[in-house]
Amino acid sequence: ALAASLRGVTKAYDNGVMALGPLDLAVRKGEFISLLGPSGCGKSTALRLIAELSAPSSGTVRVARHEGEVLPGHGIGFVFQEPTLMPWTSVRENVRLPLRLAGVAKAEARARADEALASVGLADFADAFPRELSGGMKMRVSLARALVTDPDILLMDEPFAALDEITRFRLNNDLLALWRALGKTVIFVTHSVFESVYLSQRVVVMTARPGRIQADIRIETVEP
Ligand code: ADP
Ligand code: ADP
Repeated sequence: ALAASLRGVTKAYDNGVMALGPLDLAVRKGEFISLLGPSGCGKSTALRLIAELSAPSSGTVRVARHEGEVLPGHGIGFVFQEPTLMPWTSVRENVRLPLRLAGVAKAEARARADEALASVGLADFADAFPRELSGGMKMRVSLARALVTDPDILLMDEPFAALDEITRFRLNNDLLALWRALGKTVIFVTHSVFESVYLSQRVVVMTARPGRIQADIRIETVEP
């Protein structure tokens, strides 16, 4: 089954910049794919189209939704390079906000926020404030906030690019473990060839702007 598909998708911005496409891409449920390409080739644009934060200029974008509760973001979890946490409120409040906005009761939202925080290794930091956390920890909070609504697809836009190598490597390993445990579809945008090959089952290499698919490579992993 498909989690998302783009067919003949192009995106021209109002200023006339042709940012993307035509792009044809089908992502299967549960797949972890990386989009790899030069700066400005339209990777973020592609993610915004999949998240329906922006409409294509032509072509169609389809995203499969699961049955059941409808939450803001429509089954999409988005993680950006900048964690964009609200500084004046606790880590727990930051993580439970998407649930509160969706009308989930306080106590349930709190329990689910704490569960999401535990899943990223931050069970002990629920009452901390964002400024007390390291860059890697803020990214973990951002990931917990994206996962708390149990999205069908996790979109990650160069999430670890600003972090030091060691933190980045740890987060790569933790993200892989989470992906194996949760079975979510992940679309991961990166500049790093290493990261794309290390993390994903499939690396989609894009051309310079307007981004089209140059190569679509299956990565064979050998489980220990
Ligand atoms: P990438 O994520 O691969 O770096 P982007 O999707 O951010 O690429 O951008 C693709 C191209 O579209 C770039 O040339 C960028 O400057 C341009 N662009 C992105 N967003 C906008 C916008 N809102 N208005 C005009 N041009 C934009
Ligand atoms: P990460 O845990 O994402 O790898 P860092 O590498 O930046 O993050 O931090 C290394 C470890 O140091 C963290 O896992 C955490 O246990 C600890 N740490 C970092 N900042 C703090 C802090 N403000 N308070 C307590 N422990 C911290």
